[in-house]
Amino acid sequence: MPKTHKLEPGRPFRLNDIPTSGKQHHPDRESAEAEFRTLRSEFVELQRRFYADGERKLLIVLQAMDAGGKDGTIRKITRGVNPQGVRVTPFKAPSKEALAHDFLWRIHKAVPGKGMIGIFNRSHYEDVLVVRVHEIAPEAVWRPRYAQINQFEKLLTDTGTTILKFYLHISKEEQKERFQARLDDPTKHWKFSVDDLRKRKYWDDYMAAYEEMLRQCSTDWAPWYVIPADQKWYRNLAISRVIAQTLRDLNPQYPEPGNDLTGIVVE
Ligand code: ATP
Ligand code: MG
Repeated sequence: MPKTHKLEPGRPFRLNDIPTSGKQHHPDRESAEAEFRTLRSEFVELQRRFYADGERKLLIVLQAMDAGGKDGTIRKITRGVNPQGVRVTPFKAPSKEALAHDFLWRIHKAVPGKGMIGIFNRSHYEDVLVVRVHEIAPEAVWRPRYAQINQFEKLLTDTGTTILKFYLHISKEEQKERFQARLDDPTKHWKFSVDDLRKRKYWDDYMAAYEEMLRQCSTDWAPWYVIPADQKWYRNLAISRVIAQTLRDLNPQYPEPGNDLTGIVVE
């Protein structure tokens, strides 16, 4: 059985001890890419049934440091999927209207309805990450959010949503290389912001914030997966394995027709 990288709730860990390289899990890029393509085809077929079935809801949450690969993951894993059944929501700094509400208000509006797969590019977890590291709100505000998030996710799972949360774990060195690649390639300049460099200076604080949010919010109903993400090919494979297995377990079915269709002839 391949490793799923699921963070078992309650099991002690240190983020620093979890490798960012996937090479020890799968040394061979070519076979990883071949398996990934097979899994993606399976995902396309399962999503077709999931959408037709129209009963279940799947929420995929992606979190990572800048250049951690959230955009690339979404682009790669959803290729070929019926866009009507998938909704990607990026969460940037909250608007004035969002800030006038509780932090989950804008999140709740974006969760998937029946038959839909929702993908969050960043999420409510920013409210215990960037907000904590840069002291956008005091601890008295962000600390209770771990419990609030767990309760919110419990509400979602109790009402029929399956939640998968992936933290794309890259090394500080890998982030440097990806930033440099963005700077060296004019077609990638748009992806780069000087603010990314400012946040990079807080790397250790971010790691501490990530570690605590993973510890506090990997629950039985909505576990976190810590994906070694230095190699994009391993990241894609590991994530698509979890998604495919989750959809297989959900086992969506094409619905029975409302009427008896036997013998009907189209004139
Ligand atoms: P890319 O990785 O491709 O650059 P991005 O998700 O970083 O995409 P940006 O527009 O560069 O998109 O950045 C969005 C910013 O919004 C991030 O720095 C993130 O930390 C910030 N953000 C998201 N949610 C919140 C929040 N609740 N409070 C404050 N800042 C937030
Ligand atoms: Mg950015």
